Amino acid sequence: MRTMLMAGNWKMFKTLPEARGLVGSLREGLEKLKGIDKVEVLICPPYQLVFPMAKAVAGSAIKLGAQNAHYEDQGAFTGEVSVPMLKDTGCTHVIIGHSERRRYFQESGDLLAKKVRAVVKHGLTAIYCVGETLEEREGGKTDQVVVRHLREVVDKDVPAERLVIAYEPVWAIGTGKTATPEQAQAVHALIRRELAAAYGQAAADGIRILYGGSVKPDNAAALLAQSDLDGALVGGACLVARDFLAIISAGIPTTN
Ligand code: PEP
Repeated sequence: MRTMLMAGNWKMFKTLPEARGLVGSLREGLEKLKGIDKVEVLICPPYQLVFPMAKAVAGSAIKLGAQNAHYEDQGAFTGEVSVPMLKDTGCTHVIIGHSERRRYFQESGDLLAKKVRAVVKHGLTAIYCVGETLEEREGGKTDQVVVRHLREVVDKDVPAERLVIAYEPVWAIGTGKTATPEQAQAVHALIRRELAAAYGQAAADGIRILYGGSVKPDNAAALLAQSDLDGALVGGACLVARDFLAIISAGIPTTN
């Protein structure tokens, strides 16, 4: 019912020649993947690559997203990029609230709510990240933190059809430690219940909930087999075409 979304977060990696090489290999690999029309593939490069990557993915099934955006349309905000600017280059998605933004740039719930509203107001899809730290998990606070992150942004100004949630336990990001499929499914089910309370069950059933946190070729299939996992937000492994292709392939449904 929900189409898997396989999203790559390039973070602050890749020069232009490297990026061209990666997208070239991805395009080549995707053409050979049977059933690729049954999943969505998204790359989220750093800002300087958004425009050249729009050209690089043109005519392919790869969609383009950004990793952040300002909430104002324009203005004196040195170093920032707005949603209309990203839309102009061909972006369809923006990641908001990644734990690295929360942690290193002190992005608060209020700020993230403004950013998500800006993204959806312009007709783009927000991939809103939620997730607990190791300390919070060990303190039994996972559910509380995830629900708090969701309640920060989910409201009537954010239509369900413009929203994707990414559950990214902070302790699993870039660490090589992955949530078990059961741990991930438990939190994804909680997220779906919370979305159902806000939007109604039918709308909540249509919202993709991605898992992110050390997704690799060897663990993707088991994670994606869980009923409430609707794709992956992939960091490190999306920087290597062969690995990202293997993860994408794990998201292709095997039944009709
Ligand atoms: C991420 O950056 O969103 C992420 C999940 O990174 P990694 O796959 O490297 O853990």
